[in-house]
Amino acid sequence: ITGRVFNFSAGPAAMPAPVLKQLQEELLCLPGAGASLMELSHRGQVFTDILHDAEGTIRALYGISDDYAVLFLQGGAALQFSMIPANLIRGNGKTAQYLVTGSWAKKALGEAKKEGNVEVIYDAKDSNYDHVPSPSDYKVREDAAYLYHCSNETIQGVQFGEEPACPAGVPLVCDASSDLLSRPLEINKYGILYACAQKNAGPAGVTVVIIRRDLLDHAPADLAGYMTYKNHADNDSMWNTPPTFAVWALGKVARWLADDIGGLEAMQKINEQKAKRLYDVIDSHREFYLGHAKAEYRSKMNVTFNLPSDELLGKFVKEAAANELASLKGHRSIGGIRASIYNAMPREGVEALASFMTDFASKNG
Ligand code: PMP
Repeated sequence: ITGRVFNFSAGPAAMPAPVLKQLQEELLCLPGAGASLMELSHRGQVFTDILHDAEGTIRALYGISDDYAVLFLQGGAALQFSMIPANLIRGNGKTAQYLVTGSWAKKALGEAKKEGNVEVIYDAKDSNYDHVPSPSDYKVREDAAYLYHCSNETIQGVQFGEEPACPAGVPLVCDASSDLLSRPLEINKYGILYACAQKNAGPAGVTVVIIRRDLLDHAPADLAGYMTYKNHADNDSMWNTPPTFAVWALGKVARWLADDIGGLEAMQKINEQKAKRLYDVIDSHREFYLGHAKAEYRSKMNVTFNLPSDELLGKFVKEAAANELASLKGHRSIGGIRASIYNAMPREGVEALASFMTDFASKNG
């Protein structure tokens, strides 16, 4: 496809080219349907099959049992910041506990405070969010309503290698917006796991919420209908009109992952190799590139680093763009460079960036 550059955007992010091609081919008229998918009722058989197929593919990829509902919602990941506490702590006097490892957990915490009692049991702000805690760094109450964390902080580029320690009776809640579908996970360890689609799963507009069914029954009776998980679970994600195009595209991305890539373990291997390539360049130019995250907590999805001066930073971004390496500027809150290398970033893109970085350091170091 001509004109496409290597796009390191943090989200909405690169999508697999074969999926975009398929969407293009089927956009005007979905074969056999007589219309574009975007023109069809969400209640019709065609869309219902598409939704069930998307759900089935995600269930198969993660081996998700029927103890969990898989929902396709709107409102981005951000609505989950409110929906989770609204369902689980509003009006019931219980306390939710939060691990704050970066900007997104912090934002979620701010919204949760509006809904009920929350407690921060770990905050990595003193080290500028460059790591995630070890189990000995925090203590979860046995009677907590849930333990909240963000598995991959997209802005800082720090990632949990494994789930935080959580007592058996406390639901573990995870914002996996920027790493769901990038690696295998044991869903049984979670109460709620959610992700907006626009990083690894498709276009913006749909959020996947995987929720243990016993948690559907905790919402206060006067909670707004859309905010109540049970309504979505009881109505097959069609309590209201779902974002049909986004669900369609997400289903195709999930199938690409399952069929073309070969599943989550294969994807994880590729993602680890891609990340290692970039971190190796950073580590072999320590006097020039300054990685943000401590080595053992480095994200496989968002590689964050800085350069010796603002001048060199500007030059890096500009010259990278001239080499068809786009959207590398870091988030305004931490500055520097952020290379987002989600599932759809091909190895060639990472290779091109790694070569560019090596070359840039030798010319400017
Ligand atoms: N959580 C994480 C980890 C994210 O990366 C983002 C988006 N960058 C969000 C939440 C917010 O997502 P949305 O804009 O879809 O609400």
